[in-house]
Amino acid sequence: MNECIFCRIVAGQIPATRVYEDAHVLAFMDIGQVNPGHVLVAVKAHAENLYALDDEQAAAAARGCVRVARAIRAAFAPQGLSVYQANGKPAGQTVFHYHVHLLPRHDGDGMELTWPVKNPPREKLEQYAAKIRAALG
Ligand code: 5GP
Ligand code: ZN
Repeated sequence: MNECIFCRIVAGQIPATRVYEDAHVLAFMDIGQVNPGHVLVAVKAHAENLYALDDEQAAAAARGCVRVARAIRAAFAPQGLSVYQANGKPAGQTVFHYHVHLLPRHDGDGMELTWPVKNPPREKLEQYAAKIRAALG
């Protein structure tokens, strides 16, 4: 049994709210406690961090992020967008499988994520994910 949470999501062993998938990447809405509403773009292969990506995975990760970011823009027209990846425990990383966080920003958000409403419940996040999926066609 694979112990990596994201490998298990990629394999379909843990349910996730998927928004985008291609040969190399899977993007899903984080409906967990830590970062609810972040869209996580993960490379499918188990690469621990960005140093471990080969060129094809690196290009695919960037392309996946851009596609999903455009869909978030089309769906929500946020005033801003944060794109980040943390490497290592001291940077606050909790899952050691390469992924990028995407989160829309609205005026007044500060460093919090509010989406159109503050602290959206899980059903709302599922709705947001569906809007992003629709924008991706
Ligand atoms: P990081 O390691 O970059 O800080 O973030 C890892 C993220 O993965 C966290 O936001 C955490 O909430 C999320 N995460 C961890 N386990 C699961 C899971 O089982 N499902 C989903 N959707 N997200 C998860
Ligand atoms: Zn993994």
